[in-house]
Amino acid sequence: MSHKGIAASPGIVIGRALLLDRDDLTIPKHEIKEEDLPKEIARFEDALIKTRKEMIEMQTRIEDKMGTKHAEIFDAHLLVLEDRMLIEEVIRRLEKEKRCVEFVFYESLQKFAKAFSSIEDEYLKERAADIQDVGRRVLRNLLGKHHETLSSIEEKGIVIAYDLAPSETVFINKSFVLGFATDIGSRTSHTAIIARSLEIPAIVGLEDITQRVEYGDTIILDGIHGIIEINPNEKLIAHYREEIKKFEEITRNLSVFQTLPAVTTDDHKLKLMANIELPSESDSALIHGAVGIGLYRTEFFYMNRTDLPTEQEHYENYKIVADKMYPHEVVVRTMDLGGDKFLSHLNVPNELNPFMGWRAIRFSLEKKDIFKTQLRAILRANEHGNLKILYPLITNLEELIQANLVLEVVKKELIADGHTINTDIGVGAMIEVPSAALITDLLAPHVDFFSIGTNDLIQYALAVDRVNEHIAYLYDPAHPGVLRFIDKIIRDAKDANIRVAMCGEMASDPIYIPLLIGMGLEEFSVPSAFISEIKKVSRSISRTECQKLWSQVQKISTGKEIQKILVEFLRLKVPELLLYNSFHGGELDST
Ligand code: PEP
Ligand code: MG
Repeated sequence: MSHKGIAASPGIVIGRALLLDRDDLTIPKHEIKEEDLPKEIARFEDALIKTRKEMIEMQTRIEDKMGTKHAEIFDAHLLVLEDRMLIEEVIRRLEKEKRCVEFVFYESLQKFAKAFSSIEDEYLKERAADIQDVGRRVLRNLLGKHHETLSSIEEKGIVIAYDLAPSETVFINKSFVLGFATDIGSRTSHTAIIARSLEIPAIVGLEDITQRVEYGDTIILDGIHGIIEINPNEKLIAHYREEIKKFEEITRNLSVFQTLPAVTTDDHKLKLMANIELPSESDSALIHGAVGIGLYRTEFFYMNRTDLPTEQEHYENYKIVADKMYPHEVVVRTMDLGGDKFLSHLNVPNELNPFMGWRAIRFSLEKKDIFKTQLRAILRANEHGNLKILYPLITNLEELIQANLVLEVVKKELIADGHTINTDIGVGAMIEVPSAALITDLLAPHVDFFSIGTNDLIQYALAVDRVNEHIAYLYDPAHPGVLRFIDKIIRDAKDANIRVAMCGEMASDPIYIPLLIGMGLEEFSVPSAFISEIKKVSRSISRTECQKLWSQVQKISTGKEIQKILVEFLRLKVPELLLYNSFHGGELDST
């Protein structure tokens, strides 16, 4: 059976379904007889032992793969399993209430977690999340539920899940996970973005794929068109094997562009850089021919751990990227937590509207110590002078001035501490909020460059949640309102004589490349795997015809019509693309 979702990351894979559980455990509440008490207590003890064993195995695996720091989170979890107060409370209530152990354990767990979350101590508050997490594992074992998580996967297959958190996806084990498909999400959710960075084929927003797939089903996942086939017949499998060959051939043909310059037919040069989330991705950026990192999303460094990264850890991370990429530049974006990237241990309250909440620069300016630690490390790691700083989610001039003031203080403090630093490090602002886009002329004097974050700019300009699959059809980069914002940002940057790049996903979609070139954009930062394709596009078109295209588009009133024109333009110029085409509903084909 065939299902259509949102193509999130290109590639076609065939494999067994590894269905991840959704956390919707139903807790029984039945009464038990007096004589069944010892049996209930024994079930409880068995579940604790089993959970402990599972967690130690998981800890060892994570330690081997990612190092001690990331495995330390399990120490806190293991302590919960040994908590005498919790265990004694469960046994006491079992004896008193004579209800099944699942119910008694669940109730006791909630009481404990609540007590911890109300304590005015950041560290103890965090323990509430640990308690809930471990509690769910114990409950699953009590209920005899098979539990598969991303980190426990030990066979090759295609992951099928309700959702994957960006923090999970970034550490996905590529030797087991051939691809993934999720019920929720959209093309610019960070889970989808990371899949493209890691070059893992993926489909999101399938709505109910977890209900349709059984563990072990044979799956074909076509991440180019967003199609998933469940238990296909031999004929369909044979067809897709041919498609895989075609895709490999397209990728092979595109790889010749890795070493060629990005230049239009009328000799206008472009700068193509890579977006990365982890330092290890710099290798792939270089292989794909990136001439710099235009967006290093540093927030993932704060995830999957119980403590904050130290200045030295930050420094080592940035130094790796700075060294690897030298002499190319690396734009380090200060942490952009919040939205769909959460951190349990920073104790950020649950917000109704997290994308408009306490996130990014707002968080950094309030938690100045955390911000300063990061800035110190970036400045220290800038030994070759190729690092730049980028502030996320600037909405007004005050934030930018404040961030720059903190940076100046940090420079002085570092010098006072005896460090030799390069004080004139380049500073940029993400332009990803409509209010900032409208005042780029006022912001420009305070920065060296702008980076256009279309993922957020589009969601705020069009009031379309970027991770909501139900309204993904409204998320339209070709909306004339969005195009006017982008055009204005580019013009204001040029008028102010500062650089401007685009690092949102729109910059990696080939249909928009001619239009952006026509607007005057020269710098693009995209997932590494898309660089060759963009080079191919740019080397097939002249800037003059792109400018004409932009003039033509400015006269059109709807996104749909504009997209049609852009698709036609590209089809004419580069008929044999494309790897990936989801912004425009799969109108282009890969053949
Ligand atoms: C953006 O908003 O376009 C962007 C590049 O940042 P992020 O996707 O991390 O929000
Ligand atoms: Mg953003």
